[in-house]
Amino acid sequence: MPVNSVTFSPLEALHAKLILVGPQGALHRRVLDSICSLKETEHVSAENLFRDEIERGTPLGQQCARAKASRRAVSDDVANAVLRRWFWSRKSTRGFALSGFPENRAQAVVLDEWLESRDEALTGCIWFELSRDDALAEASERLVCPACRCTHYPNREVLLVPGHCDHCRTALVADGTNARDEVSTWFDHKARGSRSVASHYHDRGMLVSMDASGPVDSTLVEFASSVRSLAVDR
Ligand SMILES: [Zn+2]
Repeated sequence: MPVNSVTFSPLEALHAKLILVGPQGALHRRVLDSICSLKETEHVSAENLFRDEIERGTPLGQQCARAKASRRAVSDDVANAVLRRWFWSRKSTRGFALSGFPENRAQAVVLDEWLESRDEALTGCIWFELSRDDALAEASERLVCPACRCTHYPNREVLLVPGHCDHCRTALVADGTNARDEVSTWFDHKARGSRSVASHYHDRGMLVSMDASGPVDSTLVEFASSVRSLAVDR
């Protein structure tokens, strides 16, 4: 979906290397889409990388599937192995917005080492603030596209064709139960690790926290100014 150029210029995120932290629903599809509209920047979701491994039935995928089945976080060894493959196969000049990794301080240290060994610098980390109640309310409304699996929050974003995927026009289906599970998992098991990731970047002056509870357009404005403030500090 095109983004209003008055409120957000995707160029502001061009080549930025960002860590995005927050519960499902806070990381808005349109924020991610506007990043992905840049050829030189990609959105990378650790969840999607894990899911690809599971679907390909790789040994790493089998370990991801076991963690998912028991509602545990994927172990550091497995997460690092999956993400290492992505990191070392990308162009070092290409920007990224990475979500779902690092999930704890140990993983953040590993990512620091990878960046350093390729002489790359992170732009910073953006924390998307959303309360548990708001995140659960968002989650209840979530729709998913059965074809391309992207998620939509119809109460906060205007779909080009109501009830249909903005990317491929497939009819969307309700996904509230899965989404509420993911939000609960995030707050019960992942939020603590995420806070330690945030403090890791905060200590180095690389953290910006933004309110993600407003409508998507204002979230985009907040996001743009967050990226700008991080880029200025670099
Ligand atoms: Zn779709």
